[in-house]
Amino acid sequence: MAMSHPNQVRIDLSALRHNFRLAKRAFSGRPLLAVVKADAYGHGAEQVARALHDEGAEMFGVAHLREAESLRRLGLVQPILLFCGADPGDAGVLADLGLVPMLFDLELARALDAAGRARGRRIPVHLKIDTGMGRVGFRPEELDQVLAALAALRHVAIEGVVSHLAMADEREHPWSDRQYDTFAACLERVRQAGFQPRWVHLSNSAGLFGREFPLCNLARPGISLYGGLPGEGFRHLDLKPVMSFVSRVAQVKKVPAGTGISYGHRFVTRQESLLAAIPVGYSDGYLRALTNRAQVLIRGRRVPLVGRVCMNWILADVGALPRVAVGDPVTLLGTDGSECIRGDELAGWADTIDYEIFCLLGSCNPRCYL
Ligand code: PLP
Repeated sequence: MAMSHPNQVRIDLSALRHNFRLAKRAFSGRPLLAVVKADAYGHGAEQVARALHDEGAEMFGVAHLREAESLRRLGLVQPILLFCGADPGDAGVLADLGLVPMLFDLELARALDAAGRARGRRIPVHLKIDTGMGRVGFRPEELDQVLAALAALRHVAIEGVVSHLAMADEREHPWSDRQYDTFAACLERVRQAGFQPRWVHLSNSAGLFGREFPLCNLARPGISLYGGLPGEGFRHLDLKPVMSFVSRVAQVKKVPAGTGISYGHRFVTRQESLLAAIPVGYSDGYLRALTNRAQVLIRGRRVPLVGRVCMNWILADVGALPRVAVGDPVTLLGTDGSECIRGDELAGWADTIDYEIFCLLGSCNPRCYL
């Protein structure tokens, strides 16, 4: 990493470990599948997986085969679930690397069956059921047909049954109960068809911290591990932010009243103003939607951004600060003194969610690990 680069994403692995332990307690010590897809939501899948492996994570979840391959190259031996399934042409690779797809496609099941037959063993899958998320998964009404097809594939083992919650971020939402009831009924049908799934799982972070689903023996937390907010009703949780994003003041200048600031002059100074230019922009994952809305921390104080977010620049009005100088650290996400900008606050200014903020900042900037 080039240390002279002014912008840096910092990842606090001790906060990550703390959040994992909190999730573990909330799930009464039962096994957790740590979701490390999308490069661990921008936090770095390798470093996160290593830290959570040491913390005792029983499984890991990624979206795509490529991500799982790099975790295997690291030497991670735990089960890895592929949330987006896999291409049937990769069935042999899955079998050889011990990767477990969420199964929502019979063509993949047939390819895995062939790969299993060739290797003389059964290939595990987690059967994905769409209980009301309205995304991927077999629909309950097609389940019997799917189970009949799978029963004929002697080299595929339904090791898990899984679904995903659509509304768990709203803690009391009755849709989660509806989904659980549907899930329970589907699980019963899976068992009646003669399958004995070892793992039963439904919860993301919000489900894990917000509800108890007695049939489930595995949960899949993602955002909570990274100190993000699973939903409004979860502010009481002691989740510690893992990612921060810092830069430095590159220029300080005084401008007269009536000065138009940045592209389109979307901000015009009302009085003589002191502005700090900061070399961060949307190419660094700092969204243009933050224009005239966000705050940053300089010398432990909140100051407002003024004018458009450019590709590589933002400007902050620093007139209220007692002192400011070129080179001063700027915190765009994270803590400075007693002030903290959390992911959900930054996300709120851009009308998005902290998931997106973390993915963007983490993938666009050099990262360092604390
Ligand atoms: N399970 C599935 C299937 C997901 O797609 C995700 C995230 O998108 C998660 C679990 C983790 O969710 P969260 O980050 O809200 O904890």
